[in-house]
Amino acid sequence: MSYDVIIGLEVHVQLQTQTKIFCGCSTAFNPDHPNVQTCPVCLGLPGALPVLNRHGFQLAVKTALGLNCQIASFTKWDRKQYFYPDLPKGYQISQFDLPFSHDGHVDVETTSESGDKSIRRVRILRAHMEEDAGKNMHDESGRGRDSKVDLNRAGTPLVEIVTQPDLRSAEEARRFLEELKLLLTYLGVSDCNMQEGSLRCDANVNLHIHQPDGSRVATPIVEVKNLNSFRFTEQAILFEVQRQWDEFQRTGIKLGDKGGHKATRGYNPDRGETYILREKEEAADYRYFPDPDLVPVLVTETQLAAIRSEMCEPPAPRRERFHADYQLTPYDAAVIIDQGRLFADYFEAVAKTCGDGKQAANWITQDVLRETKQRDQSIAEFAIRPEVLGTLLGQINQKRITIKSAREVFGDLLTEFDETAAIPAASRIDEIVTTKGLAIVEDTGAIDAAITAVLGRNAKAVADFKEGNQKAIGALIGQVMREVKGADPQTVREKIIAAMQ
Ligand SMILES: [Zn+2]
Repeated sequence: MSYDVIIGLEVHVQLQTQTKIFCGCSTAFNPDHPNVQTCPVCLGLPGALPVLNRHGFQLAVKTALGLNCQIASFTKWDRKQYFYPDLPKGYQISQFDLPFSHDGHVDVETTSESGDKSIRRVRILRAHMEEDAGKNMHDESGRGRDSKVDLNRAGTPLVEIVTQPDLRSAEEARRFLEELKLLLTYLGVSDCNMQEGSLRCDANVNLHIHQPDGSRVATPIVEVKNLNSFRFTEQAILFEVQRQWDEFQRTGIKLGDKGGHKATRGYNPDRGETYILREKEEAADYRYFPDPDLVPVLVTETQLAAIRSEMCEPPAPRRERFHADYQLTPYDAAVIIDQGRLFADYFEAVAKTCGDGKQAANWITQDVLRETKQRDQSIAEFAIRPEVLGTLLGQINQKRITIKSAREVFGDLLTEFDETAAIPAASRIDEIVTTKGLAIVEDTGAIDAAITAVLGRNAKAVADFKEGNQKAIGALIGQVMREVKGADPQTVREKIIAAMQ
C-alpha cells in the first residue's frame, strides 16, 4: 500500500506596528519587564472600548495582496470565546465568517526525489486579522510551583493565513514557510522573528492511503500546534506521517470512524515526537458572535489602490524580471532574491551602473556574499556601495582593467575601509588603478616587443607548445604580463599563439 501526505498550514504572523491592534500600548518584545505594556483595553477591564489600529489594518491588506488574495469590501469583527489565563477578556477579537481577505495563492518551487524542479501552487483559503493572547510561563521543574502570565503580547496584531491542504511533503511545507517569510519581510509587514514568536505555525496533517481496489481512505486529521521554527515544522510532519501510517496499520481507524476524530497535538523537539493535547474541537465550541464594540470595516477601491501603490515588487515576479531584464539564470536570480530585498536592490543598482547584469550577478553572488558573510555584515553595512562596485565592473566591460585587477582594487577598497572606517568613493578606483599601474596597456608595440623577447628566451616552451602541449603557454603569458604590467591576458594569449605560428 502507498499513500499521499496531505498538509495544510495555518500561519500566525505578527504585524510590524508600533502599537497594539485595539489600543495604544507598545508592541515591543519586552520579556524582561512583564505586564508593563498594558492598559484597560488590552487587560479587558469593564467599560474599556477597542479602537482599530488603521496602520495595522493597512499592513494586513498589504499582506493579503502579496498573497494574491481577494480583499473583501466589507469585513467585521467577532468574539471567539474561550477561557485561558493569558486571555483576560475571556474572548479573543478575531474574524469568523467575513474575513478581510480570501482566495489567494503562493507558488513554491519544489524538488522531486529524482531532482526535478517544479512549481507547487499552494492556495490560500483565507487570511484574517485577530489579536494575540498573552503568554503563560509554566513552572517546568515539575514541582507544581506557580505559573506566570505576561500580558505584554496581549492585543498584538496578527494575520492568520490559512492554506488549502495543497502541500504534499514535509519539505514542501518548509519551502512554503521560507517563501512566505521572504514575501512578508520583502513587503515590510512583519519581521518574522521566530525566536520572538512573530511567525508561528500549526500544521494539519493526514494520509490518503491507496487501497487495492483503487479507492483511498483518509487517516484522522491531526493538527500540530504552535510550531515555532521551520525545522520543527518539517520534523513534526515527518513524525506524524510515520505515526499515522503505523497507527492505521495497527488499528485501521479512518477519518470519521468512532475514535477517528480530528485531534490536536503538540511537538516536543527534544524527543522529536508529537504528543496528544486534546481530541476534537469544533468552531461551535467557541460560540463566535459579532463584537458589538467594533464597527465593521469598509474597504474602497481608492484605499486599495493607495495601498497597492506603496507596495514593493514581491519576490516571485522579481525573480522572473531578473531573468528577463538581466539574463540571469533562474539559479542566480533565486540566490540574489532569497538574500532579501535590500540585497536584490543592491544587485539592481550595480547592474544598472555597470550595464552588465551577468557580470554584476557573478560578483555579487561570489565576492560580495563571501565578504559580507565573513564580516557578519548585512548588505546595508557593506563598505563597497553599489555605485562604487558598478563603476569598478564598468571598467572591466570597457576593457580599462582586467578582472584580476578589478579583484585587486576590490580587495584594496575593503582593506582601506578596515583601516580608516571611511566608505570608499568611486573616485578611489581610478586612483588605485593609476598608482598600481593596473590600466590595460593599449600599447601593442610594448606587448609585441615583450613577446618577441620572451619567446626568444624560452625555446623549449615554444617547442613544447608546437608539439601540442597546451599548458606550455601559461608560463609564457605570465612572463609577458610581468614585463608589461596591465596587459590584457586574453590579448597577450592571442598574440603569443599568432607569433608562434
Ligand atoms: Zn493596551
